[in-house]
Amino acid sequence: MYPTPKHLRAIVKPRQLDDSEADETSFAGDLRCPCGGDEFLLLHAGGVLGKGKLKDVGYADVNGQHFLIVKVRCTKCDAEHTVFDDDYHGWNGYVCAPEEGLRDRPRPPLTPWECSNCGCMAHRAVVFLIGESREHALSEGEGVLTDDDWFEAFGAIVMDIECVTCEFKRGGWLNHETM
Ligand SMILES: [Zn+2]
Ligand SMILES: [Zn+2]
Repeated sequence: MYPTPKHLRAIVKPRQLDDSEADETSFAGDLRCPCGGDEFLLLHAGGVLGKGKLKDVGYADVNGQHFLIVKVRCTKCDAEHTVFDDDYHGWNGYVCAPEEGLRDRPRPPLTPWECSNCGCMAHRAVVFLIGESREHALSEGEGVLTDDDWFEAFGAIVMDIECVTCEFKRGGWLNHETM
């Protein structure tokens, strides 16, 4: 299994994949708060793809600046955790954004996602990552990535969500290539 990026270690419980699925470039884990809670408000910057029940999260355009941020707030203890921020995580966020000055931008306010079926806000979620092998990441990210952090530059992140109230599911609610 692909290693867990540092910002997800406290909040994602890796799934044990069987041998046919286990693969050094992919990761799957259930979102779980350190308090034990597994129901969350999904906070995002306001970008929505699709319509009606087929809505998913996408880039938000905030005064011409584009943001893709997903945080979660535990419904049990109210702690907030960052699952993905395009300016910090994945290939572009980890390798390119620091040089481009994108992290200095003021961050937009976030709003909770409402279930497109029933309007409730508490969800469970699974996180998937697709990366590259250690050797490939280290050669592509020469000078930036090291043995300690090569897995921070994952190439794609996917989040499947399920409404706690009505069990409506959206596979690939977040589906983002980071390079
Ligand atoms: Zn909690
Ligand atoms: Zn619902």
